[in-house]
Order: sequence, then structure tokens, then C-alpha cells
Amino acid sequence: MTHPAQPKASHFINGAYVEDTAGTPIPVIYAATGDQIATVHAATPAIVEQALASGKAAQKAWAKMSGTERGRILRRAADIIRARNHELSVLETYDTGKPLQETLVADATSGADALEYFGGLAGSLTGEHIPLGEDWVYTMREALGLCVGIGAWNYPTQIACWKGAPALACGNSMVFKPSEATPLCALKVAEILHEAGLPAGVFNVVQGMGEVGAALVTDPRVDKVSLTGSVPTGKKVYAAAAADMKHVTMELGGKSPMIVFDDADIDNAVGGAINGNFYSSGQVCSNGTRVFVQKGIKEKFLARLAERTGNAVIGDPMDEATSFGPMVNENQMNIVLGYIEKGKAEGARLICGGARCDMPGWYLQPTVFADVTDDMTIAREEIFGPVMSVLDFDSEEEVVARANDTEFGLSAGVFTKDFTRAHRVIGNLEAGSCFINSYNDAPVEAPFGGVKASGVGRENSKEAIKHFSQVKSVYVRMGDVEAAF
Ligand code: NDP
Repeated sequence: MTHPAQPKASHFINGAYVEDTAGTPIPVIYAATGDQIATVHAATPAIVEQALASGKAAQKAWAKMSGTERGRILRRAADIIRARNHELSVLETYDTGKPLQETLVADATSGADALEYFGGLAGSLTGEHIPLGEDWVYTMREALGLCVGIGAWNYPTQIACWKGAPALACGNSMVFKPSEATPLCALKVAEILHEAGLPAGVFNVVQGMGEVGAALVTDPRVDKVSLTGSVPTGKKVYAAAAADMKHVTMELGGKSPMIVFDDADIDNAVGGAINGNFYSSGQVCSNGTRVFVQKGIKEKFLARLAERTGNAVIGDPMDEATSFGPMVNENQMNIVLGYIEKGKAEGARLICGGARCDMPGWYLQPTVFADVTDDMTIAREEIFGPVMSVLDFDSEEEVVARANDTEFGLSAGVFTKDFTRAHRVIGNLEAGSCFINSYNDAPVEAPFGGVKASGVGRENSKEAIKHFSQVKSVYVRMGDVEAAF
């Protein structure tokens, strides 16, 4: 019997599911069991061409609709997603392995938030009038054209919506390529957008590995590329886009600091560290994986952290009592195990976890290392798994310098009851998305993105509109033209 996760076809192009079995098969493996639950096929050059051609053909008419009409369709799609949240959350769990306890509240719902928010903004995208005596300039906020979205595997529904919603609100069309590891959810987003009335061709989904992404990025018809992925892929995609002067948004990796001062509420700080390291089994780009704890409270913090980490319910992701699921696939599990071994070998003190779980599927124990020093591999490289490094510090000046000593700059958090210090420290940290007495909140109303190697541009909020549109200015002369001859 066909598994319920098996999509109708691999791609969604020009308003319909499309198949081309000549493309390389991509097995979809359920991370909790290791069983194959579906198969899709990578896009062939013919499929890539169909998707780009239909995106290009549909864009102008879409941009000519009023913003209110475009927004109504996006908001209708948000309503459909919310009405079908349970079914979509189950699919997200099949795609990623993340527990239903999370997917019910963080994935389809976050996608719906983006569609609702940008749907609401679509009707208010205006230019300005600039008086110049008798003459005047007016500006128009125009769509960029055909956009390409490329996703990572940790939030397949959310990433499709975070890119698709602002792009479409501004009058662009999009071809979206999910990660080959999680090909299912973006197809549902496309299907629902069309059910909500989206004209055919405005949002297309094609499957494939990196080479399909590269084919999309280098096509001269494409005006903008928005990537969520690792720093090495980001550098390649940015360079490829630069060849044609395409616009880019790069949401890349991180090794973010979370700083806990000795006056902090310990339970809140421990809660922040748990959210910022173990949610989605640690597969979150903005995670605060370097937890700097001031020396005076270090042992108290570690004891409480170990106690609460022991309460994680590891098991069947479809059981809503489960609070900690498997890694997305075997490969990622092995990468993270490699880092755990490096942590042990380089002398970090293992507080809890540190091994694979003795059960089917790609489960790792939530792992905490203490006495981590700045030069250790686990303190320098993005692990993208449930491995927390706890480092100690003495002074504010010292911790700020150490927190900033990294190529990354995605997120940063501070826990303290001294708000003057909190704002001063945040002001001195090199990061795009920051938190005070909290960690990893990502509401659609707030800009999201990194500085330094962690990215270019911002997703969500009104900032995303700037990255999916451009301004045309028009000088209007009311009198005669004066010329030298
Ligand atoms: P990758 O960088 O490996 O892949 C990202 C996407 O790019 C995938 O769809 C991939 O295809 C595609 N791709 C790979 N090579 C190319 C290329 N040359 N041209 C165009 N596209 C290409 O990242 P992961 O999927 O492994 O995701 C994990 C990374 O994503 C982490 O580093 C994490 O920090 C980052 N991330 C960042 C977020 C942010 O908002 N800042 C949010 C979530 C994750 P395929 O994999 O199918 O081959």
C-alpha cells in the first residue's frame, strides 16, 4: 500500500503536479524508523525549464493584480493551512522526524503566520511623493521578477512560506527547491496556494540535489535567489548569483553565543539553553550553542541543566508526549556523533548524553559538554545537532570579546536581571537576531537573519519586503527643459 506521505508527483509546476521519472530517484526515509516512506525524482533539465518558463510567464500578470487581491489569496492560503494544521504537521514529522509536539505549533502555523502577515502587507506597498518646487519625484515599489527559493531540511514548510509569502506579496513569482532530505512539505504549500486561488505558474516546486539548485541560480531569467543553507553553499550560490548581478538573501549557519550572568534567573537561563540547543534535536541555525556561564553560578547551572535535560521524552515523534525526536537522517546523525567524539577527545567534560540512543531510527541523546574552551572544535564549528557547549567566563568585557570571536553572526542571547547591562552587551555583540532573557523566538513580525558569514538580507517583518522588491523613481518636470545648446 502506498504510504500516506507519498506525494501525487515529484514537482508542482504551472498549477499542477508534474512527474518525470527520468530524474534520479530520491528516497524519503522516515527518521524515526529508517523506513522508506516515499520516493520523488530529481528534476531533469526539462522539468527545470518548465518551472522557470512558467514562473517567468506568470509573473507580470500577477504583479499587475492589486496588492489587496494578491494578499487575499495569501491570507486564504493561511486559513487553509490552519484548518489542516494536524494533517500538515503529521507530514512535517514524516519529512523531518521532528516530534508532533513541535510540528503542531511551529511549522505549518509559522508558515500560515507568514502568509497572513505578508498577505496583510501586500495592499500597502506604496511609493512616496517627493515635492521639488514645481517639479516632483514619485517612487514605485516594484517586484523583482522571477525569484528562486532554496531550502534547508530543518523547517521545510516554514522555509517555503518564509520565502514564498513575501516574494508573492510583492508581485514576484517563485521556483522553490526544497532540500533533497525533506522534499514533501513544499509541495503541499504549492497545492494549498493554488487551492486558495493563486494563478498557475506563480509558485512552483521542483525537487533535486545541489545541481538542480545550481541550474536555477545560474539561469538568466532569474532575478533573485533566496537561500537557507550552510555557509559553504551560501558562498557558492552568492558567487553564482553575482555573475548576473542577481539579488540575494542568504540565511546561513551560526555558532551563536548565549551569555548567562551570575544574577540571572537560573531556571529561565536553563530553559533558554534547552530551547536554544535541543528544540528540533538541535537542528536550528540560530541555536545558542556556545553557552557562556559566569563562574559563580556555573556548577548550579550545570546541575539544573543536567536534571532538566534528563526529563526529555525521547521516542515516537507521532506521540504527542514525545519532546525530543531523531536527527533528520543517518548522515547528519553520524556528523554529529563525530563532533561528540571530538569533544571527548579534546578534553571537554561530558555532563550528559554523548551517544546514540539504543533504538531504531537516527536518535542521539541530548548532550551537554562543560569546561569547553574557545579553541575546541565543538566551540568553533556549527554542529547542527543536540550538542551544547558550556564555557565559563569572569567579566563582561571578556565574554563579549570571546562571543564575537567567530566568523558567524546569526544570533546572540543574554540572561541577566540587570537591564542596563543586557542592552549594553547586546549592543556590543555582532549578531543579527538577538534575545534578552529568552532564546530562539522567531515571530514573523521581527526581522530574522545574520551578519558576518551568517548571511545577507533579512527574512520576515517589513525588512523582507525590501529584499523582494525594488524602487523605481520618476522625475516629473512641469515646465520647459533647459539645455546648454
Ligand atoms: P546545505 O547548504 O547543504 O543545502 C542547502 C540547500 O542548498 C539544499 O537545498 C541544497 O540541496 C542546496 N544546494 C547545495 N549546493 C547547491 C548549489 N551549488 N547551488 C544551489 N543550491 C545548492 O544546507 P543543509 O540543507 O545541510 O542545511 C543545514 C544548514 O542550513 C546549516 O548550516 C544551517 O545553519 C543552515 N540553516 C540556516 C538557517 C537560517 O535561516 N539562517 C535556517 C536553517 C538552516 P541538497 O541538499 O538537496 O543537495
